[in-house]
Amino acid sequence: MDAVLAAVNRISNIAALAGDTQVGDEKGGSALPSLARQLPKIVVVGGQSSGKSSVLEAVVGRDFLPRGTGIVTRRPLELQLETASDPKAQEYGEFGHLPGRKFTDFEAIRTEIEEETKRHTAKRGTIVSPVPMTLRIVSPNLPALSLVDMPGLTKVPIDGQPKSIVTELENMAREYVRHENVIILAVTPANADLATSDALRLAREMDPTGERTVGVLTKIDIMDPGTNCREVLQGRQYQLRNGWIGVVNRGQRDIDSKMDMGAARRKEMEFFENSNEYGGLRNVGTEHLSTDLSEKLIASVRRQLPNISGFLQKSCMDLQRELEAMGGAAPIGRGEMVHAVLTMCRKFETAFAKLIDGGKGGGELVLTVFEKRLPEAIEKQPFKKTLEVNYVKRVIEEADGIQPHLVAPENGYRRLLEEALGFLKEPSEKSVEEVYVLLRRMVDNIAGSEDMAALRRYPTLRREIVSAAYKALEAFKDETRRMVGVMVEMERNYITAEYFRTIQMGKMPDGKILYTLDGRPVMEEPEGSMEERHYKRIINQVSGYVREICNQMIQTVPKAIVHCMVLAAKEKLLEEMQASVAGEQEVSLKRLLGEDDAIAARRETLTKKLDMLKRAQSELATVNV
Ligand code: GDP
Ligand code: MG
Repeated sequence: MDAVLAAVNRISNIAALAGDTQVGDEKGGSALPSLARQLPKIVVVGGQSSGKSSVLEAVVGRDFLPRGTGIVTRRPLELQLETASDPKAQEYGEFGHLPGRKFTDFEAIRTEIEEETKRHTAKRGTIVSPVPMTLRIVSPNLPALSLVDMPGLTKVPIDGQPKSIVTELENMAREYVRHENVIILAVTPANADLATSDALRLAREMDPTGERTVGVLTKIDIMDPGTNCREVLQGRQYQLRNGWIGVVNRGQRDIDSKMDMGAARRKEMEFFENSNEYGGLRNVGTEHLSTDLSEKLIASVRRQLPNISGFLQKSCMDLQRELEAMGGAAPIGRGEMVHAVLTMCRKFETAFAKLIDGGKGGGELVLTVFEKRLPEAIEKQPFKKTLEVNYVKRVIEEADGIQPHLVAPENGYRRLLEEALGFLKEPSEKSVEEVYVLLRRMVDNIAGSEDMAALRRYPTLRREIVSAAYKALEAFKDETRRMVGVMVEMERNYITAEYFRTIQMGKMPDGKILYTLDGRPVMEEPEGSMEERHYKRIINQVSGYVREICNQMIQTVPKAIVHCMVLAAKEKLLEEMQASVAGEQEVSLKRLLGEDDAIAARRETLTKKLDMLKRAQSELATVNV
C-alpha cells in the first residue's frame, strides 16, 4: 500500500481510537473539531436495485448488508471500517444506535440494519429517511475506510411511495457527495440504458471534472443475450475521466442460496475469464475495483493533505487556547490553592476596575446617573408645594408670630429652608442606590465574562467571589448613603446670620447673584398686594438659596459616591475575601476550589482530543507529498 494511504490509515485509526469518527454524533462535548471528517470517504450512488449494496459489500469483502429487489436500503448507512491493532482480534460491528453492543455475527448485523430501518421509518411515518444509521466495523483485516451506502435514486415513485420521494432521495445523495473528500462510486447496471443513469447524472452534477468519480457497471452477467458492454468499458460510449469498472455480483438466486463472498468472487472471475466479449480488458472484476479504489483514495488523500494538515494545525491551536482559558491543571496543596484563589481574586478585581474605567457598560452608566438621573430627580422634588404663598404665610406665622412685613422672619426662613433642603435627601440616596445596583451588575458581568472563563471551572469559588463582592459593595453603599445623608443635613442646619443677610439681598455671602428655581433673579420685584409681595419676596429668596444648594449637591453627591463607593470598590472589592483566604485551612480551600464536573469532563475531552490531533500531526509529518 502506498505510504500516503498507510499514513492516512494510521491517522484514521488514531482518530477512531479517540472516538472521533466520520459517523454519527460526536461523543463527549460539543463543537469539537473532527479529524475523521476531513479524511476520504466513499459514497455509493445509483438507481434502486442497481447493485450499490452488493458493490459495497464486495469492496469491504464482508456479507452484512441487506440486498434484494425493490427499495431495500432506505436510510443512508454510514460505515466506518477500523483496523484493529491486534492481528488476532475478533472482527465485530457496533451500531451508533446501540453503543457498547458488539456484533460478531455479520448475519445479525444485517438483521439489525433491517430492523432498525423498519423501526425508524415506522416512527417517522415515511418509507425512506435521510437520517443515517451508523456502523463501525473493527477488524484486523480491514483498511481504515469510511463508506456510505445510500438508498437508490428513482425517476418515478414506485411501491406506493409518495411523489416527494424522488427529490428527497436525490437531495440526500447530493448532500453526501458534495464534499471534496468524497469519492463517488457511481453504480449503473449494464442491462439498463446508460443515458438514463441517475448515478451518472448526479456524479456529473456534483463532480463536473470527474476527478472524484468511479463508474461501476454491474449486472454484466444478466444483459440481454447477444448484447454486451465492451464498448462502455472501453470508454467509447460514455466517457468518464477515471474510466469504468465492470463487476459481477451475486444475483438474487445466489443471495437466496446464501452463496458466500469467496464463491461469488470465483464466480465473477470465471465469468470474465470464460467470456469472449471481455477478453483482454483490464478494468473488470471486484479485485480490480478494490485496487482502483485504493488508487483513488490515495489521490484523494493527496488532494486533501494540505487541508488536513491545515485543519490539524488550526484545531490544535483552538483546543490549546480553550484549554488555557480553562486554566491549567488543578492546584494541589495549600500553597498552590491559596495562590490560585488569590490570583483569581486579583484577576477579578482587575477586570472589574477595567470595566469601571472602560466606559461602556461600566463607568459610562455611572456617569449617566450623575449627569442625568440625579439632576432630574432633584428637579422633580415638590419644592413648589413648600414655596407657595399661603403655605409660607402659615409657616412663618407659626414660627415667628404676626410681625410687620418689614421684619425678616428668621425662624420662618429656617423652617422653610430646612423643609425645602430636606427634599434633597431622597434623590441623593436614590443615586447611591442606583450606582450600587450598577456596580452589582458589573460584578455579575465580570463573573460571566470571557476574561473570567477560568472561573467557570470553580463554581463554588465563583459564587463566593460574587457574594464577597456583593457584601463589600453593600458595605460601601451603607457608608455612602450615610455620607450623603450627612451632607444634606449639614446644608439644612448650617445657615448663619451672615447667610440671612446676603440671601435677603439676593446674593450668596461670596457675592454671587441668586436665581430662583424657575430661573428668575431673586431680587425681581413680585406682583400683588403688599402682603402677597412680602411673602413672594421671601419665597424668591428661599428658592434662590435652595437652587444654589441643589446645584452644589449635584456636584458634591457624585463626588461622595465616587469616593466612598466607586473608588472603594475599585480598590478593595475583594480585600476581605483575600485576607480570609490567606488564613484558610486546606480543607476549606479544597471546597472552594471544587471543580465543576462538566468542565472537568470537558477539559479531559479536550486534552484527549488535542493529544489525538497531535499524534495525527506527527503521523502526517512522516508522509512525503
Ligand atoms: P441496491 O438497491 O442498489 O443496493 O442493489 P442491491 O445490491 O440490493 O442489489 C439489487 C438486486 O440486484 C439484488 O437482487 C442483487 O442480487 C442483484 N444484483 C446486484 N448486482 C448484480 C450483478 O452484478 N449480477 C446479478 N445477476 N445480479 C445483481
Ligand atoms: Mg442497497
